[in-house]
Amino acid sequence: MATLTPPANDGPASPGLAGLAFSLSHLRLVPYLTNVQVGTAPTLAPSLRFTVVERAIREGTVVKVGRHTERSARHRPAVLGMPDDILFKSKVVSRAHAEIWVDDGKFFIRDTASSSGTFLDQVRLSPQGSRSNAHRLHDGDCLQLGVEYRGGEEEMYRCVRMRVEINRRSQAAQPHANQDMVPSSPVVASNLPVVPVTTDCCICLQPLRRTPLFLTPCAHAFHYACIRPLLTTRRSRNGRTVLDAVDGFSCPMCRSYIDLNAEPADEDDDV
Ligand SMILES: [Zn+2]
Ligand SMILES: [Zn+2]
Repeated sequence: MATLTPPANDGPASPGLAGLAFSLSHLRLVPYLTNVQVGTAPTLAPSLRFTVVERAIREGTVVKVGRHTERSARHRPAVLGMPDDILFKSKVVSRAHAEIWVDDGKFFIRDTASSSGTFLDQVRLSPQGSRSNAHRLHDGDCLQLGVEYRGGEEEMYRCVRMRVEINRRSQAAQPHANQDMVPSSPVVASNLPVVPVTTDCCICLQPLRRTPLFLTPCAHAFHYACIRPLLTTRRSRNGRTVLDAVDGFSCPMCRSYIDLNAEPADEDDDV
């Protein structure tokens, strides 16, 4: 396995960053949003709720995917430079469910003889209890671990349904690339970690001025009033409409998952 080969430049990473980040590939597993699928997919069983998973993975390193147990939490050895296992608190996920790795800049997944299966875009990778071949993981793929049990009414019996995001963080990691497009806009502070790619709202196309704004990590900017409908879901209870806050939503411009529960963090130490 080539360990010093730069990743093929077929992702959204910019050529300028490729030299710096050649040995690490970034994987993000985000909740699969069913509301963007309305009309195109059959009704899906509810997925386990989980916080966004992010890993920087080196060539040749294998990341294990499995069930979170008290034991796995207690005995997981902390090895410097090794990404943590990806663990979920669901009984339909096997302890050793699957493995994810990077080879020549490309992500691959293999089912490691799980009992309830690994699904890529709804296709099961191997029969029950059998290891699968390696399958390429692409940006935007739908990855599912297990199938729901007892209708998935209880959280612990739900499958885990995720959307795969690969090397997207590099899009936002170039704050100065678009600076000539944002000359002296009053809305842009030069020390922001992310500078919006335009001076207009990506939804209504009007200038980003004089109103509260919403700026995403993928560098898309909106008027708060324009993005607000995506931040809640409506349901009716006893004949009244109730608004629930969502955990995240899909950016209307680039489809990146925006995690509304993300905590502010220092980005300097994870390059
Ligand atoms: Zn707007
Ligand atoms: Zn975006």
